Amino acid sequence: MAKCVFCQIVSGEVPAKIRYEDDDVVAFDDINPKAPFHVLIVPKKHIKNLNDAAKFDQDLLGHMLLIAQKVTKEGGIANAGYKIVINNGKESGQLVDHLHMHLLGGKLLARMVV
Ligand code: AMP
Ligand code: ZN
Repeated sequence: MAKCVFCQIVSGEVPAKIRYEDDDVVAFDDINPKAPFHVLIVPKKHIKNLNDAAKFDQDLLGHMLLIAQKVTKEGGIANAGYKIVINNGKESGQLVDHLHMHLLGGKLLARMVV
């Protein structure tokens, strides 16, 4: 099966502006930002979305949140505030079928849907 675009970013076949990387996750700027700060945190392992996450992914999921903390602090938006969004499946608008966390900030987002 063809690799998805986020697996291709993980392997370096598709370039991205990478902000953080370790053995388990990579964080990079969204190519079509919906806010001045829009970073995606992606597990290196291909998981379609939260529906496919399992008990053994628990540490990985928690790790993604702590990397969100780090990346937003380093991006200078942590104190001002930011949102985290995970789209899951068609009705959420998920376009890339590889689990990812959107970090959104850098402007007033309090009136976004959630
Ligand atoms: P979602 O709708 O939650 O699946 O969001 C997918 C996100 O991935 C969108 O915000 C896209 O702009 C972003 N995206 C798609 N391809 C790339 C890419 N090659 N590099 C960075 N971001 C991407
Ligand atoms: Zn993938």
